[in-house]
Amino acid sequence: MTMKIYLLDNGTLLMDKSFITWNHGQGAEVRFPVYALYIDHPDGKVMIDTGFDKEWVERKLPFEKPEQSADQTIEAQLSKIGVTPDEIDIVINSHLHMDHCGANTLFPQATFYFSKSELRHAYVPDPWERLGYDPLLCAIPNMKTVLLELGHYEYEVLPGITLIETPGHSVGHVSAILRPGGDTPPLVFPFDVAWTRHNLEARVLMGLHTDPRELLDSMNRIENIAKKIGGQIFFSHDRDEYATYRKAPDFYGG
Ligand SMILES: [Zn+2]
Repeated sequence: MTMKIYLLDNGTLLMDKSFITWNHGQGAEVRFPVYALYIDHPDGKVMIDTGFDKEWVERKLPFEKPEQSADQTIEAQLSKIGVTPDEIDIVINSHLHMDHCGANTLFPQATFYFSKSELRHAYVPDPWERLGYDPLLCAIPNMKTVLLELGHYEYEVLPGITLIETPGHSVGHVSAILRPGGDTPPLVFPFDVAWTRHNLEARVLMGLHTDPRELLDSMNRIENIAKKIGGQIFFSHDRDEYATYRKAPDFYGG
């Protein structure tokens, strides 16, 4: 079994540094990358996360100053590898924040996998979560869903695509462990458990979280798993790390 894993470059957003390093860096702006994953798997075509919708961010969160060229939309990124949105079978959302589900509506035919609790928070966010969620972005009328309640269990979506629950940044956040097979070591995507390498290695939490102790536990869990299986950790919003990653049409695995 082999699969190809593509990073789809989706542009950049801007935030005050204190959102990235909790209680530190107020007043300094940081521009950070956003990307989604496409997996060409023998049993189906899979997206993990779908990036942000530039028009939505400009309207709702203009202070994040989104930059996304015509080449950086999810559709354009998929076209680089000869895939059209209607071919996608499965969409996994690590969580339902706006920069991880912004193009969900491109895939009305797909089956969506995300945590049941994320859906509640998308529709009825706690007061400090309001800016991150919008049900109109993530939900599609009559969408096919597999609503996850993983607890401490692992969940295999397809062979080699495993999800684990890693709450703390959001209530139902899940991370992905991808085992492409062949000579490629496992790829570990903690998504928003750690935006940057500094977040994880120094255990510096991001300013945005629902439960700091849970987030810390999730960081510990991810680091332990990556060590145990010899996996490479990919960070979700780390400009320096991102510069070193292969991006579509290049890929990992195969
Ligand atoms: Zn998030």
